[in-house]
Amino acid sequence: MTVQISGERARRAFVDKIERIAGQDLLACYQCGKCSAGCPMARYMDILPNQMIRFAQLGLAEELLSSSAIWLCVSCQTCNTRCPKGVRIVEVIEAARQVVLRTRRDHLDVRDLDPQILAKIPPIALISSMRKFTS
Ligand code: SF4
Ligand code: SF4
Repeated sequence: MTVQISGERARRAFVDKIERIAGQDLLACYQCGKCSAGCPMARYMDILPNQMIRFAQLGLAEELLSSSAIWLCVSCQTCNTRCPKGVRIVEVIEAARQVVLRTRRDHLDVRDLDPQILAKIPPIALISSMRKFTS
C-alpha cells in the first residue's frame, strides 16, 4: 500500500526540521517587522527577514528555500538584537541554508554567469558561492 504524505504533514515536517536545526520556536515570532526594519541587506532581498520567519512558520519550504534572501543575509546579527521576542532569526536563516546545502543542490549555476565576469572570479570565491556561502 502506498502511503501518501499529505501537504499538511510535509509542511509540519519542514517546520520541525527548521526548528530543530535552528533551535528556535518559530511561533514565538508575532510578525512585528523589527528585524526587517533594521536589516542592512533588506533592500536587496526578495523576501524580508520577517517574511522568511513567516514562511518557515507556515512550512512553505519551496518559497523559503528558493529565495535569494537566505543567501544574501550576511549574519550580522542586527535582527537578533532587535527582536522583542528573542527569536534568533539568523539561526533560522542558517537552518534554511543548511537544508539546501544538505541536498547538495548548488544555489549558483555557473552557466548563468556572464563569461567575462566568470573569467575574473577567483575559483575559491566561485566554489564558496556555490557550496559554502553560509555562516
Ligand atoms: S523582530 Fe522577532 S517577532 Fe518581530 S518579526 Fe522579526 S522575528 Fe518576528
Ligand atoms: S543577520 Fe541577516 S537578516 Fe539579520 S539583519 Fe543581518 S543581514 Fe539582515
